[in-house]
Amino acid sequence: MDAIDDSALMFVTQRPQVMFVRGEGSWLYDDAGRAYLDFVQGWAVNALGHSPAVLREALTAQATRVWNVSPAYYNEPMCRLATQLARLSGLERVFFANSGAEANEGAIKLARKWGALERRGAYEIVVFEGAFHGRTLATMSASGKPAWGGLFEPKVPGFVRVPHGDLARLERAMGPGTCAVMLEPIQGEAGVLPVPTAFLRDVRALTQRHGVLLILDEIQTGVGRTGRMFCYEHACIRPDILTLGKGLGGGVPLAALLAREEVSVFEVGDQGGTFNGNPLMSAVGCAVVETVSRPGFLEQVRANGACLAHRLRELARTLALGEVRGQGLLVALDLLRPIGGEVVSAALERGLLVNAPRPASLRFMPALNVSRAEIDTMIERLAASIAAVRGIP
Ligand code: PLP
Repeated sequence: MDAIDDSALMFVTQRPQVMFVRGEGSWLYDDAGRAYLDFVQGWAVNALGHSPAVLREALTAQATRVWNVSPAYYNEPMCRLATQLARLSGLERVFFANSGAEANEGAIKLARKWGALERRGAYEIVVFEGAFHGRTLATMSASGKPAWGGLFEPKVPGFVRVPHGDLARLERAMGPGTCAVMLEPIQGEAGVLPVPTAFLRDVRALTQRHGVLLILDEIQTGVGRTGRMFCYEHACIRPDILTLGKGLGGGVPLAALLAREEVSVFEVGDQGGTFNGNPLMSAVGCAVVETVSRPGFLEQVRANGACLAHRLRELARTLALGEVRGQGLLVALDLLRPIGGEVVSAALERGLLVNAPRPASLRFMPALNVSRAEIDTMIERLAASIAAVRGIP
């Protein structure tokens, strides 16, 4: 294969020398026709796998009607998707965005506006160590990735950081200047670190007691990923503000900011964006949400998630690896040694795509409709990849 000419691309990350040209379900194909089993799926984005018929049909049908009418006008798919999400979440108002970071940026702005109006100018948001909320300046400031400590200073002020899962420190960090607490129910980028459901319930109770907002970032965990439409359902709570992205668009750029009616305090000019709520992306979002809401779909996600975790635990026992954790089809395996990057490369050579969010852990986020046979194939290829890295023939 000729070397890929990336000389015109701004360097932001190291990519392997593979050019993907086609995808179908759980499989990607390179320009030499080689197949790769994809357990990354665009970082948990392709909820229904690559190019599923239901999304191709929604996209092409909408493409023949209208693509963009400007967010200053109504369009039918935007209104339909907002209604679907409001009904499913119980949060009455929806604003559409193009990326998770943009939805979170909107959540931060909404909480600050609410604090200005309802809590005597309170603007501080309590966030957690290890959190990942995106790559805009405010969302990087809200994130707790250790490597970002000194980057792009000065950061946006107003974020108070506490240790992940520490309720006592959270309570101590809250005061008259606090308008919200913001967290991911499972810290995906930090290596799939869930908080116990009891912790989520405690945070909900604490925020209610202090009269501040609870913002849940479900960019990674939302839209069926954990076996419920929204991860917070496992804890039987509801946030005041919710952000969705990734799987919501099934692979197209679509994200959403949802809020309770009383918290939806934006006024004209506060929030907007050229592409927001465009009919093309919204039509795809409607088809994703309709599919994930079909009877039996989420049961299947839970069953396949349990199967994936079980097979990974068997592998961990056989190969003396570490913990398997996660929920639904967002699962991590600890490798106990910092060989994640090497395993990812060895897996690519064997036609398997997995991701190492941390040097010593792997993350699995297949299509929500992945099959048992594909899970079996993944385990076989992963076992061979780990053995190769360890020098076992
Ligand atoms: N929040 C969480 C929890 C995420 O996992 C991500 C992306 O990985 C983001 C926000 C940012 O989303 P995007 O990359 O679409 O801006």
